[in-house]
Amino acid sequence: MERLEDLYARMDVEYGQISRLYGLDCEGCDDNCCSQRFHHHTFAEYLYLLEGLKAAEPELRETILRRARVVVESYAHELQAGEIFKLMCPVNFNGLCALYKWRPMICRLHGLPHYFIMPDGSRKAGSGCHRISAAEKTTPHHGMDRTPFYTGLAGIEKDVREHLGYRERFRKTTAQMLMDMSLEVDIEE
Ligand code: SF4
Repeated sequence: MERLEDLYARMDVEYGQISRLYGLDCEGCDDNCCSQRFHHHTFAEYLYLLEGLKAAEPELRETILRRARVVVESYAHELQAGEIFKLMCPVNFNGLCALYKWRPMICRLHGLPHYFIMPDGSRKAGSGCHRISAAEKTTPHHGMDRTPFYTGLAGIEKDVREHLGYRERFRKTTAQMLMDMSLEVDIEE
């Protein structure tokens, strides 16, 4: 958990520096990132978010878990409707993350133009959110290099899996992770 906290802190610092270069400001944005369907891929981040849920006041925790259930149930309705609904993350209250300190990596990195180098040497890139396009035209910066952060998280995940003997494939939204956590957290405590 300490290693993950350190990695997150480094992400936050670099994100802040590069977003200032672009002049990226989320204030007043009408397209809250937290309504996007982020998938998380590490059990390590699940455990970290679980710490945040445990630290929350019982009433907040209960509300988050109730909202998570609604979101996960909506996924099933999407299958019937044949379309993807825009669903707000159950942890977001009035536009703000209630578990901000414990939010997963993609919540921290979304928005900025970025690139990363795959293990085979190929380069992948993303253009960032809609607010960035105007600033990007006047900014020579080539975006945030996510490679050290992906590599760092992969190393932590490897060690967590070895330590716990965890072998399952992991790909879950925050709502799905919270539903799994509801089996581990006593919401009455
Ligand atoms: S965990 Fe927090 S930052 Fe991430 S999508 Fe949910 S509300 Fe937003």
